[in-house]
Amino acid sequence: MQIAPAFKAPPRLLMGPGPSNTAAEVLSAMSQPVVGHLDPVFVKMMEELKTMLRAVFLTSNEMTFPISGTGSAGMEFCFVNLVEPGDEVIVGVNGVFGTRMVDVAERCGARVTKVESGWGNIITPQQISEALRQVSKPKLVAIVHAETSTGALTPVEEISKLTHDAGALLLLDTVTSLGGCPVRIDEWNVDAVYSGTQKCLSCPPGLAPVSLNARAMEVARRRRTTVQSWYLDVNLLASYWGQERVYHHTAPISMNYALHAALRLVLEEGLENRWRRHKQNHLALKSALGAIGLDIVSQEGHQLWQLNAVRVPQDVDEAGVRKRLLNDFNIEVGAGLGPLKGKIWRVGLMGETSTRENVRLFLSAFCQVLNECGRKTDVKAALAAVE
Ligand SMILES: *Cc1c(COP(=O)(O)O)cnc(C)c1O
Repeated sequence: MQIAPAFKAPPRLLMGPGPSNTAAEVLSAMSQPVVGHLDPVFVKMMEELKTMLRAVFLTSNEMTFPISGTGSAGMEFCFVNLVEPGDEVIVGVNGVFGTRMVDVAERCGARVTKVESGWGNIITPQQISEALRQVSKPKLVAIVHAETSTGALTPVEEISKLTHDAGALLLLDTVTSLGGCPVRIDEWNVDAVYSGTQKCLSCPPGLAPVSLNARAMEVARRRRTTVQSWYLDVNLLASYWGQERVYHHTAPISMNYALHAALRLVLEEGLENRWRRHKQNHLALKSALGAIGLDIVSQEGHQLWQLNAVRVPQDVDEAGVRKRLLNDFNIEVGAGLGPLKGKIWRVGLMGETSTRENVRLFLSAFCQVLNECGRKTDVKAALAAVE
């Protein structure tokens, strides 16, 4: 067998639905020596991670830590711990990730009621209120905050109130929202939340920050049945991430270094500043798109700052444009999924990637590629609109 040459990653500008670009500090943190997962220096770092995650989630929940796995592992963690066979669960479905939640909840034996909106639209409090009335004993309402597949941001506060009035728990997916727009776990009274590292936290994929409040922990402790996943059982994980430090699984050491470095950068910038940066770069891109006759398909007033669902003009080869951007400009943008396949490009401005410079780089390349497809796109007008 011929051994493959050493792998060399090209310097891509990651403007898709994640991963986003990673700061040099984060990559260099990962290249430090590996220590043991029960080494006192690692244990101290775990405590700092928990503290920083609480600051980023805006929560005081004791049970706040990173799951070893990507965002989807965070999703499974929440469902397997909170749902038992026969439980009634309401899931908002307005894109890929709500659809995935339904799949995960059903695998836990839940009786799922889907609350569906068109892809690109939000889930409304009225829809949740109707579903809560239909279900006899709702245990959990699960919502995707920022739907990365469509670019829509569902407001949480009113849904949270309705959920609690009905005696249910609220589970929130903040994989794309955390670090890119306001996420206020305690203020919004969210009982269980999960996120991922590779979107607006700008850390490589591999960990899923989660947080459960006292109410959710009580539900997990008082289960009639054991959690069907040994790996994701919060009662076992609590013994490693809590004070006992009992071996459960070997923590992915270097990934935790990376998250520590990434969270430091988030907090050094400040949440408000970081949110504002995401907002301003989204608005700059949006006005540039307007200047060249393009628009964002997601519901007006609820468009994500970190993920722009740009409508593909008629007669333009959607996949061809992405391919040329990647091969000739080193820029990655995402394709549409499900009903939006072929209809949108997903242009991410997440974390480190969200800069004015990157908006300009993208527009210059994008306009050039569109013009090669036979459109007459005014690059100057687009760049002028960025200001
Ligand atoms: C990316 C994403 C996920 C899944 O995360 P993975 O890291 O791909 O497992 C879940 N929910 C949302 C909203 C996402 O954007």
